[in-house]
Amino acid sequence: MADDKKLTTRAKDFSAWYNELVLKAEMADYSPVKGCMVIRPNGYGIWERMQRALDDMFKATGHQNAYFPLFIPESYLHKEKEHVEGFAHEFAVVTHGGGKKLEEPLVVRPTSETIIYSMFAKWVQSYRDLPILMNQWANVVRWEMRTRLFLRTTEFLWQEGHTAHATHDEAEAEARQMLGVYRDFMEGYIAMPVITGQKTDSEKFAGALRTYSCEAMMQDNKALQAGTSHNLGQNFARAFELKFQSEQGTEEFAWNTSWGVSTRMVGGLVMTHGDDNGLRCPPLLAPIEMVIVPIYKTDEERSQVLEAANNIAKSLGAWDRREYARLRIHIDSREGIKPGAKYYEWELRGIPLRLELGPRDLASNQGVLVRRDTKEKRPVSLDTLGEDVADVLSAMQRDMLAAAVDRRDANSHRKPMSYDAFRQLMDGEGGFVYAGWCGMASCEAEIKADTKATIRCLPDEEFRSAEVPTTCLKCGMASTVEALWAKAY
Ligand SMILES: [Zn+2]
Repeated sequence: MADDKKLTTRAKDFSAWYNELVLKAEMADYSPVKGCMVIRPNGYGIWERMQRALDDMFKATGHQNAYFPLFIPESYLHKEKEHVEGFAHEFAVVTHGGGKKLEEPLVVRPTSETIIYSMFAKWVQSYRDLPILMNQWANVVRWEMRTRLFLRTTEFLWQEGHTAHATHDEAEAEARQMLGVYRDFMEGYIAMPVITGQKTDSEKFAGALRTYSCEAMMQDNKALQAGTSHNLGQNFARAFELKFQSEQGTEEFAWNTSWGVSTRMVGGLVMTHGDDNGLRCPPLLAPIEMVIVPIYKTDEERSQVLEAANNIAKSLGAWDRREYARLRIHIDSREGIKPGAKYYEWELRGIPLRLELGPRDLASNQGVLVRRDTKEKRPVSLDTLGEDVADVLSAMQRDMLAAAVDRRDANSHRKPMSYDAFRQLMDGEGGFVYAGWCGMASCEAEIKADTKATIRCLPDEEFRSAEVPTTCLKCGMASTVEALWAKAY
């Protein structure tokens, strides 16, 4: 039974490994609707924890949640020219309702700038009504021909923050602040290090003044754009007459920002931490932090071991404990399944800790604790189990981030590289390449056509190389800026 259950290894076929892991760990499944996925409890539980943490962070930075309609009048999407050009090919359009042809077709939201700013326009009169700091948790639809579970689906879940400000600088500070919130979340919770920076004009959001992004490196050395934050300037405010009376009594257009992260991050988590045995979930996002597997032969042993397991779950996982001290524990008491088979399943699902509990362990008041990330296995006393487990979980969270940083840095290239060497690298093992760029869109486009690599971002100062590159990777002319190049999802 063992072999057909095994995952294809990452080294053999990374993409097959990813699909098999997501399906076999029961994180998601394909649906009868082409392009749409079903998120199963093992995957949704991770998304829920992501939502909770992010929602707290948004509220701590002054944002409130609201909800806007799923349908957007088609004419709204045509009001901002670049916006519609960027999204029109992905629209799903409703033409009939209640058996009748609609007067105006409705687009299923691909993103909600247009409908949200049309409402802001109604609510804002004076500078005193600003800023507006809102967020919505929602689903969006962008018609996709190629499906990849969590990474690229026609419908996906996300949050979209939308704000309105009186000045450019306030909007800019907001866009940068939320990029920072995303980075903190991705590194602190997903244990996924990111490079932050600005997108080039050809890669920025349709209708934005400037787009900033978080770029993470997956285990196949490709980049994953894990979150974006946009300074939209006054483009949407002009299109939707979002005006306010300034302190000086003049009429001004507001400045907007929008920012979003999606269920794509679940895919990023898998591709950052998964191994050939399955998922490794960072403890802070694991729906279950520790699974207890009882080991027994006789009925008497079974009731003895289960009683001990229940006592542990009760004392460490009880609802009356404070959130930070309460552990999410599951007891795998299923009968007729051997412990080894249970271990295999929980490893596949990435549960951070496993406690093996047998009669011999109990006799000496201990259990065997196994870490999912390192496979380290050691006896632990049941007297100090709570403290022990908390220590190991926080160590795991730290170690997983450190390992991901090391892997990324080992596959990042900062030394000057010829264009031929770059092509060979992108053709082979890939990675992040920091190199000079002349600023010409033609060089960017030629490199993309040649190698499929794109400028992921113009890295923020802290990520730039100590030695400033002097020439453009492609044309050899003087470089105006350092760019981060990689193939991407
Ligand atoms: Zn160039």
